[in-house]
Amino acid sequence: MLVKSEGIVLKEIRFKDTSKILTIFSKDFGKIHAMAKGAYRPKSQLTGCTQVFGYSDFTFFKGRNFYHINQGDIINSFYDLRENMERLMYGSYILELVEYSIVEEEPNEKLFLLLIKGLNVLSKLEKNFLKFVIAFELKYISFLGYRPYLDKCVVCGRNNYNRVKFSYRQGGIICEKCFETDPYCKKIDRNVIMYLKQLLYSPLDQLESIKIPKDVMSNLHEIMVKYILINIEKDNFNSLKLIETITKNGGI
Ligand SMILES: [Zn+2]
Repeated sequence: MLVKSEGIVLKEIRFKDTSKILTIFSKDFGKIHAMAKGAYRPKSQLTGCTQVFGYSDFTFFKGRNFYHINQGDIINSFYDLRENMERLMYGSYILELVEYSIVEEEPNEKLFLLLIKGLNVLSKLEKNFLKFVIAFELKYISFLGYRPYLDKCVVCGRNNYNRVKFSYRQGGIICEKCFETDPYCKKIDRNVIMYLKQLLYSPLDQLESIKIPKDVMSNLHEIMVKYILINIEKDNFNSLKLIETITKNGGI
């Protein structure tokens, strides 16, 4: 049976000599695995549409256990992501985040459109990569159903607290009266909460006016990554480990 859907290639694995097995986030079928037979052959028509980051209009033959790519018309190859080291690294992180967290064969158009929007913005970005990434993480985890509660204490609903912490387990800020509900909660400044809210509610291509000090930025990113990992039940992201290594060695 032939089926059609737009999709973004999240991952590719070489299969035998000339084929690839792709992980695709498709608009209509969610995350699927698809065989691209002969994609490595020099004159294959599938070469372009089977590259990681590629966004194409696919036609699949759906077998009993597997999707086979029949044809793919490229909508956007996001080639500019490969032109810049930071774009490529954070782009790879975004794909890994999506690949880890979405369920197979469960469509989610909101997440799909967010991913396209994110890759579009990232492919033109020249600076402030981390600010963009944190804003993406906040929106992404919210669309996945775990929007952090940032207005009031997530446990008791109070908003006139003196001291406040962030609870990864409860999914938001908690006031001093509720600290004991989560022994692992993290001390957090009020301005950090303000930045999180600004990044959550501002469109990805309109982040210029949000000014965040560098040390606060890495703190925000740390909070978000931990919050995401807890909610998607993973230990770490390989792409972030790579970014850390390269950054430490002065690579970027
Ligand atoms: Zn409380």
